[in-house]
Amino acid sequence: MGGFAWVTLATNDSYSLGALVLAHSLRQVNTVHQLAVLVTPGVTPVMRAKLASVFNVVVDVNILDSKDEANLRLLKRPELGVTFTKLHCWRLTQFEKCVFLDADTMVLANADELFDKEEFSAAPDVGWPDCFNSGVFVYRPSEETYSNIVKFALERGSFDGGDQGLLNLYFSDWAHKDISKHLPFIYNTCSTACYSYLPAFKQFGGNVKIIHFIGSSKPWLQYFDSETRQVQVGSDLQHLRVVLQQWWNIFCSCIHPILSPEMAPSRVP
Ligand code: UDP
Ligand code: MN
Repeated sequence: MGGFAWVTLATNDSYSLGALVLAHSLRQVNTVHQLAVLVTPGVTPVMRAKLASVFNVVVDVNILDSKDEANLRLLKRPELGVTFTKLHCWRLTQFEKCVFLDADTMVLANADELFDKEEFSAAPDVGWPDCFNSGVFVYRPSEETYSNIVKFALERGSFDGGDQGLLNLYFSDWAHKDISKHLPFIYNTCSTACYSYLPAFKQFGGNVKIIHFIGSSKPWLQYFDSETRQVQVGSDLQHLRVVLQQWWNIFCSCIHPILSPEMAPSRVP
């Protein structure tokens, strides 16, 4: 196939809702690139069909099921399950270059220029800026890189138990080697930054291209009033109200109409 793709991951139907909104947000900003989603058996067949209606490629991954040696060793480390599932993105070798996006991200403006960047490019993490945040990164699919990272992970593990700790150990020269691999923060604006540095958010917030709803700010967990079509956010998330509403607007216009009642988030009657 060749070409470039945006790639995300969903291991259950909740994160699939995030993936659906993400995909529609990419279509709305007229990306010229393809959309791919990795799914595990935790995603229901009905939800897979919804994903297939907007993603170009839906790839089944089930790391604990296959037969190679790394996976057999992984069976002894089930806690690394979701982390290892994300690593499958390196196996999409039908694409030349990809940008991985967490399913809790949303694209606000066309960011196709990210594909000019090289592996491994990512933006700083808000908690420890010498680490990158692994919610958005540019990479080159390669079976060799995939097996190297899996091997590394089984030997070294992850200092935070997730993919971010693992990838920061594997791409350990990111902090100092090549500034061109540091993505500007507007490509992965973590939702907590909005209150941890409010003046900067007021100054630069309008430039944000990709918002990342990290931690407990997941849009699908907020209360949504289906009568007024307004998201209700607690005082701690007020600064995110506009982008949370934007997420729900996409949900209401593009996704809710195609969901069967039992698949909608419990907060949407
Ligand atoms: N993920 C998933 N199922 C889970 C947890 C995570 O599919 O139960 C995927 C999803 O793409 C998600 C990513 O892994 O966006 C990273 O997890 P999350 O975004 O919850 O971590 P955070 O960004 O809040 O640290
Ligand atoms: Mn995330």
